[in-house]
Amino acid sequence: MADRESFDGVLVLGAGLAGLSAALALAPRRALVLTPQALLDGCSSAWAQGGVAAALSPDDAPEQHAADTIAAGAGLVDPAMALLLTREGPDAVRWLAALGAPFDRDHHGAFAQSLEAAHSRARVARVKGDQAGKAIMQAVTDAVAASPTIEVRVGRALVLLQDGHGRVRGALVEQGGRRIEITAAAVILATGGVGGLYAVTTNPAAVRGEGLAMAARAGARIADPEFVQFHPTAIDLTEHGGADPAPLATEALRGEGARLIGRDGRPFMDRHHPMAELAPRDVVARAIHRQLAEGKGAYLDARQAVGETFPEEFPGVFAACQAAGLDPRREPIPVAPAAHYHMGGVWTDSDARTSLAGLYAVGECASTGVHGANRLASNSLLEAAVFGLRAGRAAGAEVDPRTAVLPAAAPAELPPEALPALRRAMTLNAGVERTAEGLERLLAEIDSLAARHGEALALTTARLIARAALERRESRGGHWRLDFPETASEARRTFLGPEPVLREAAE
Ligand SMILES: Cc1cc2nc3c(=O)[nH]c(=O)nc-3n(C[C@H](O)[C@H](O)[C@H](O)COP(=O)(O)OP(=O)(O)OC[C@H]3O[C@@H](n4cnc5c(N)ncnc54)[C@H](O)[C@@H]3O)c2cc1C
Repeated sequence: MADRESFDGVLVLGAGLAGLSAALALAPRRALVLTPQALLDGCSSAWAQGGVAAALSPDDAPEQHAADTIAAGAGLVDPAMALLLTREGPDAVRWLAALGAPFDRDHHGAFAQSLEAAHSRARVARVKGDQAGKAIMQAVTDAVAASPTIEVRVGRALVLLQDGHGRVRGALVEQGGRRIEITAAAVILATGGVGGLYAVTTNPAAVRGEGLAMAARAGARIADPEFVQFHPTAIDLTEHGGADPAPLATEALRGEGARLIGRDGRPFMDRHHPMAELAPRDVVARAIHRQLAEGKGAYLDARQAVGETFPEEFPGVFAACQAAGLDPRREPIPVAPAAHYHMGGVWTDSDARTSLAGLYAVGECASTGVHGANRLASNSLLEAAVFGLRAGRAAGAEVDPRTAVLPAAAPAELPPEALPALRRAMTLNAGVERTAEGLERLLAEIDSLAARHGEALALTTARLIARAALERRESRGGHWRLDFPETASEARRTFLGPEPVLREAAE
């Protein structure tokens, strides 16, 4: 039997940039933030390297930023949402700076901005080259610690609690070995992406789509789950003892002029796209995937473009290379694509409301429509802050209905020894290149794991991704079907309600 607790504010599940921005914006309403690990640990936000994209300079405009976002999204970006994101972007960056995030400045005190792939301007506000995530999250975490309205607890959410009308009333959580049913006026889901479901990923292990599964099981509308972005340049340490998760060689290195070369030392991106190294991520990821599949090797060569200044300009990447015995000043860095970002998620409106009353979703677990089929680099920290703030303001007005909560059983748990099989199957079959045959194999693996261990949250999310990828018989953005390489003339989003995938998943 779970204990019961009634919280007189809003329950926030997850403590990345999205969850903490929402918690801060909820004030003066109280927020209870639940995080499986201590603050700053186990969230992608603190690992971000490049920075936050926003039209901050006089020669840039939110409309131009929105146009780049729409172009990168391969026909599926919601233009109104993209414009909302980019118009509120500069204020969100200034808000982070006011909290103490030490963004790099030029000698006039203006934000120094990097150029990243598929941006038509240098518009990524950064911190000491590749330290943006850590520095931003430190500032936000300090603000949370100083806030009298926010309580943070270490714990993990398992199920969303609902009343007889389907309204979300709280969550069943695991906290210090106890199970507690916490009810609240509303719940903000901020549980991040799905990278931990893949064998090769840049995301922390704790980030594996659990919020998406919880929302789907509660009957929330899910959008575009098949669209997973693979970062082209994770550092491939397979010949150096391996690393899980894979460290990242930030896109900003390519912005600085680093080249992608094969084992023969020749650049290969010019053959794939006019923007070469700065082509959209999916194009670069596929080119690297091909190089590796054909045994030609893929390396990021920063010797000329960055050279001796590497340790000062990119201290995080330099440390990751050094730990593996690599010196990027003298040798090219071996790279491979890795699951990095989930464009799909729980469908939301512009105030982060989901299709279920009482439930909000923000950050990577949400699908606001701003990323379409392919996210523009450095738009996700921006989305986490902009929509986190919007969610906090909107959820702050929720009145606790005090309705009775229906009983909810905890989901099955996938034993740790079963997770590698799922992760391997996801990378192999729902990775950079997909086929109907591979996706069917993946679904069979998911079914077999579910038959042995029960329907764990990870399996529900994997099933959503696989089913939607199988249904999308075209190639677009982050979703590449070897058996359907053409892009359909009509661009359509995937929307999944509780039927039919979820009913099966809940059986
Ligand atoms: C290596 C790396 C580099 C990146 N670089 C950039 C960049 O330069 N610019 C950019 O814009 N984006 C970047 N991204 C993407 C960006 O960091 C993320 O998309 C963004 O931080 C997501 O924020 P979030 O708050 O939604 O999720 P996260 O920061 O991942 O936080 C999710 C939180 O939910 C918690 N959680 C998970 N499951 C549960 C559960 N069951 N119950 C309770 N809590 C749970 C997690 O532990 C965590 O606290 C990068 C990502 C990575 C991995």
